[in-house]
Amino acid sequence: MDTDQRSRLEAFVEAYAQTLGGVAERDAEGDLQLLDPVSGTLRLLVFEPEGLTERPEAELVAPGAAALEEFLTHARGRGRLSTVCLEVPEVPDRLVQASVFRTLRVPDAEIQMAQPHRVAAEYAICLFRVAFVSDVREEALLEVVVDRSTGRFIRRWDELQAAGRLFEGPLRDPPLPGLGVRATYEMARAEVLRNLASHVTQRQRTLMEWKQRETLRLTRYHEELGEELTERAEKERNDARRQALLARLEANRLEAKRAAQDLETRSALSVELECASLLLVQVPKALVTCHVEHPKRGWQAHVDLLWNLAARATEAVDCPGCGQPGFELVLRREGLACPRCTKSAMGK
Ligand SMILES: [Zn+2]
Repeated sequence: MDTDQRSRLEAFVEAYAQTLGGVAERDAEGDLQLLDPVSGTLRLLVFEPEGLTERPEAELVAPGAAALEEFLTHARGRGRLSTVCLEVPEVPDRLVQASVFRTLRVPDAEIQMAQPHRVAAEYAICLFRVAFVSDVREEALLEVVVDRSTGRFIRRWDELQAAGRLFEGPLRDPPLPGLGVRATYEMARAEVLRNLASHVTQRQRTLMEWKQRETLRLTRYHEELGEELTERAEKERNDARRQALLARLEANRLEAKRAAQDLETRSALSVELECASLLLVQVPKALVTCHVEHPKRGWQAHVDLLWNLAARATEAVDCPGCGQPGFELVLRREGLACPRCTKSAMGK
């Protein structure tokens, strides 16, 4: 395939993902990861047949290949907004600085702040369709919001969204680096599964109780019928009629077996999960670089804080040592760390 055709196909897949509410992103190997907007699954795409040798789990996108045909079918006549920006009221720099100053605690250190500058974080609003399948099928929709720049879940997205308005337009602020599509998807999916765990356990328990009751009822019915037929067959003198009773006895035995199998199937619970839609929202934040210094010992360090313009609050900062988010850092000769890391380092 010539390079032009390949890049045209790649551009098509990217536009396809964007228009229908999916995401296409290049992974570390340079291949395209597609969070498919239609099937809700994550697909690895290559554009040359040779690519399949290196990554056999991938799908080929080329004229005539099944994947391309599928994308074309879905792309026809469909269009949906997928990346939007959240516009919120401006906040003066001094208010941002004052808020950061109140929130960040670095005991015994002096904090100096640089001028805040605006950046854009990307929130992934993942809507999962969950189906519980047993003898009945029930569906539910679950939303998980991931801040791709911090790798944290956003719990009160509704409130944040209400703080401003969403619009489709060019991005005003430089984007923050963040999680790739695979990591975002897996994180959101794991969260859905965690949220579902107790619900699934409860449902399984209900199904097991139902199965026990039904098993008891049916076993009793088939046993009683079996006993009655056996008794009648033993007493029956007419040969043809006795044969007919024995045939009914055998049918009853088979029916009991079939009913038990049927109960087994109907009481087994399976959970189907798919990402039904994905919306990417650019959320404005102010990046504030703080210079911290121990006035007596002369230790110095820098820390970047994010002030969320939608939440109007400082975001917790990840400890450089353990990665745990918090608002308190301790300054040592080696730099900054959370109180817990500092304590364990001193204990060694
Ligand atoms: Zn730490």
